[in-house]
Amino acid sequence: MPIHSLNDNQPIARVMVAGTGVLGAQIAFQCAFSGIDVVAYDVDTACLDRANARFDALGRVYAADLGASREQIEATLARIEGNADLGSAVAGTDLVIEAIPEDLEIKQSFYRSLSAVAPAGTIFASNSSTLVPSQFAMFTDRPERVLSLHFAHEVWKNNIAEIMGHPGTDPAVFAQLVQFAHRIGMVPLPLRKEQPSYLLNSMLVPMLIAALGLLVNEVADVQTIDKAWMIAKADRIGPFGILDGIGMTTVYNVTRALAERTGDSTHRRIAEYVKTHFIDTGYIGEAVGRGFYRYPDPEFLDPAFVTA
Ligand code: NAD
Repeated sequence: MPIHSLNDNQPIARVMVAGTGVLGAQIAFQCAFSGIDVVAYDVDTACLDRANARFDALGRVYAADLGASREQIEATLARIEGNADLGSAVAGTDLVIEAIPEDLEIKQSFYRSLSAVAPAGTIFASNSSTLVPSQFAMFTDRPERVLSLHFAHEVWKNNIAEIMGHPGTDPAVFAQLVQFAHRIGMVPLPLRKEQPSYLLNSMLVPMLIAALGLLVNEVADVQTIDKAWMIAKADRIGPFGILDGIGMTTVYNVTRALAERTGDSTHRRIAEYVKTHFIDTGYIGEAVGRGFYRYPDPEFLDPAFVTA
């Protein structure tokens, strides 16, 4: 194993982001935008090519939303290097932020492989939305350096980082990640114990499942359900707009797991609906231009949507 041990007071300088999909690309870009050197790791070069397109698109979004200059965007892109070889990708990194699919077997196998090649001091942080770090820690060679660092979709503006350890996480590592979250422009939200779905999703997921339940049980259509939320809660986006942003791959993984766990007939209908309408058709949400709505100009952003 390569010798590289991060002193707990030394700032995190080099990060590997594993998985360059919806959230991984955003996390990698945000870290690089904040001056951190980033290795973007994914399973093959085709994925890394897709990641480069995501990074270019994020550059345009950061310019529009944050007023980032062309120089800032270029410097950000220059700090990100793609690599599809796990051993060389993780070499010299202080922190791995894992954003691979929400599937326990895929994650466990990833942590086993990662442990075999990562420097001894590298911290492993998962961005998993529903799994807790004690489910991964035992598959690593460093359980005391394993925890969760959970971001929200559109990290540059929805800038929270939920930090959650397991009972064996070293408090110094936890504190280091709180500091790191600040450094990359997030508001750190430390949790005192393991909670599947953390703070935000403990509140948000039941609302989204309820919206999907109303749809598949034919109580109302997508637009009507979204309007109920948007108008009454003075929100710029409703549950189906949120689901498009999350991406249907993650939505399917979460709803299928829920249906398997509960056996509830509405949950089963939701998982089937998501599969047939989005997974099978490839319309997996905002990232591909089509989900419940069509992008880049979804109808719910039109001011007339909430007055009609
Ligand atoms: P995604 O499907 O968009 O991307 C997953 C990426 O992981 C893909 O690029 C895929 O090629 C890659 N991948 C698959 N297996 C891999 C492996 N073994 N090693 C490295 N890369 C691998 O998924 P996503 O929506 O970005 O979600 C990723 C994680 O982030 C999940 O745990 C999810 O719960 C969490 N998350 C997602 C959101 C969201 O809004 N999408 C928000 C917070 C957290």
